Amino acid sequence: MADKTLFEKIIDREIPADILFEDETVIAFMDINPQAPFHALVCPKKPVAKVSDAEASDEGVLGHCMTKAADIAKDAGFEDFRLVVNNGAGAGQTVFHIHVHVLAGRSLTWPPG
Ligand code: 5GP
Repeated sequence: MADKTLFEKIIDREIPADILFEDETVIAFMDINPQAPFHALVCPKKPVAKVSDAEASDEGVLGHCMTKAADIAKDAGFEDFRLVVNNGAGAGQTVFHIHVHVLAGRSLTWPPG
């Protein structure tokens, strides 16, 4: 069996995290190295490495990640926020288990770095 991803270890409570939300298919927790005053991650419990590996059967849970990401930002009091998904090392992905970054609490410029 493949090694667990870091985020599977958080899902399985093998690594501690500040968990904000969890249901049958997704989990959300605070990023350990925040890039904004509010920085959470939302990921599907199914460990697909990156969005470009996702299949049609993953569309429902990926959509659920997006709507939950928005709910989490709004629940934290933010009307404006940025959702980011890095796909591949060249795009800044370091944990190969799909996750949506939720960034808020400061001015967010465009284009991103
Ligand atoms: P990526 O670079 O793959 O898009 O994002 C991975 C994110 O996971 C980074 O923002 C990083 O700070 C976060 N991260 C890495 N290790 C841990 C950890 O052990 N706990 C938590 N909560 N976040 C982590």
